[in-house]
Amino acid sequence: MTIDQIADKVRSGSRVTAAEALALYREAPTSLLGQLADAVRARKHAERVVTYIIDRNVNYTNVCVAKCNFCAFYRDVGSPDGYVLGFDEIFRKIDETIAVGGVQLLLQGGHNPDLPLSWYEDLFRAVKERYPSFKLHALSPPEIIHLSRLSQLPVPEVIARLIAAGLDSIPGGGAEILVDRVRKLLHCYGKATADEWLDVMRHAHRAGLRTTATMMYGTVESDEERLEHLLRLRDLQDETGGFTAFITWSYQPEHTELSGSEATGIDYLRTLATSRIVLDNFDNLQASWVTQGGKVGQLSLAFGANDMGSVMIEENVVRAAGASYCMDEVEIVRNIEDAGFVPKRRDMHYGILGDPICREREVPRMLELSTARAEGDVTVPQELANYPARSRTGKQLRTIPN
Ligand code: SF4
Repeated sequence: MTIDQIADKVRSGSRVTAAEALALYREAPTSLLGQLADAVRARKHAERVVTYIIDRNVNYTNVCVAKCNFCAFYRDVGSPDGYVLGFDEIFRKIDETIAVGGVQLLLQGGHNPDLPLSWYEDLFRAVKERYPSFKLHALSPPEIIHLSRLSQLPVPEVIARLIAAGLDSIPGGGAEILVDRVRKLLHCYGKATADEWLDVMRHAHRAGLRTTATMMYGTVESDEERLEHLLRLRDLQDETGGFTAFITWSYQPEHTELSGSEATGIDYLRTLATSRIVLDNFDNLQASWVTQGGKVGQLSLAFGANDMGSVMIEENVVRAAGASYCMDEVEIVRNIEDAGFVPKRRDMHYGILGDPICREREVPRMLELSTARAEGDVTVPQELANYPARSRTGKQLRTIPN
């Protein structure tokens, strides 16, 4: 098929094959890719609304045994820079989030062997007790697998226990590229194979949770593997219908073991547009302004995105790898309106909550994203003493009163 024939197929609403999507990604002019993706977006979101959510991206621990080579965020067990947030610190972050109109935490962290499943259950219960309507979008599939291994419980049981404790939905982190050749090269095959990642999502969807899906591209994958990732997500979405949204971002190489260079903004827009065309059964695609910056984030709205993601408030993972873009609600709203769309606040299921909070009342401007903790803060939360540690360092620390 020629590019023009494939373009006609997309315009007619037909599903593209992997070979056709690959041809578009590689050969179609960027403007044509954008037009096609925008047409798919317009079919699904004819009302020209672009949504965003006010939430906070909290990383409860940076201690991780997975050691993915593309990650600049993790610290080894026993590292002086390693931290675990205390329940009170997390409550304070929730208070700050609610004060600016936030409705949920995106809660993710490292695979810390010294945090058993009961720590997560107690945290979730405590959050729900204090903030009954506040949502927990928490624990990516590799974290669920880590907890399954740590507690020697099957994944469906871990998910059921977390739901009983207050889990509302699962973020699609840790997908990277869902091809095992790539995962082995990124040292993330051990934390979750492609099938394992998809299986957690399958179980979550069967348990009634909605989740997101992600793709981190631009490391060692081929174009074909990038497409294979998208097709695997499309297949699971056909099966369960449980994904609310897809988010893609480019690998951020600074301070990582893998190193290398970052993909260009044009490659981001081409990848996003191709994703919109391939993922014809996904309603929502987010713009990744935190890695691309506000202006490419805004351009994303012409390349298939219908959501500006999250106001975020705090970010630790991408910052560790060298990217540090920040947009508060005022800035997100301005970018959406300047692109010719109507901004609306949403919840985790993409239900509309209302107009921008900053139009209703004064909210403090946020010119920099917060971090998990102030630099040099090495506080060890008191309640950790209540949970059994698995690592030797963890066990030693639990025996020393602080
Ligand atoms: S990406 Fe996640 S799992 Fe991998 S090393 Fe970093 S914190 Fe650990």
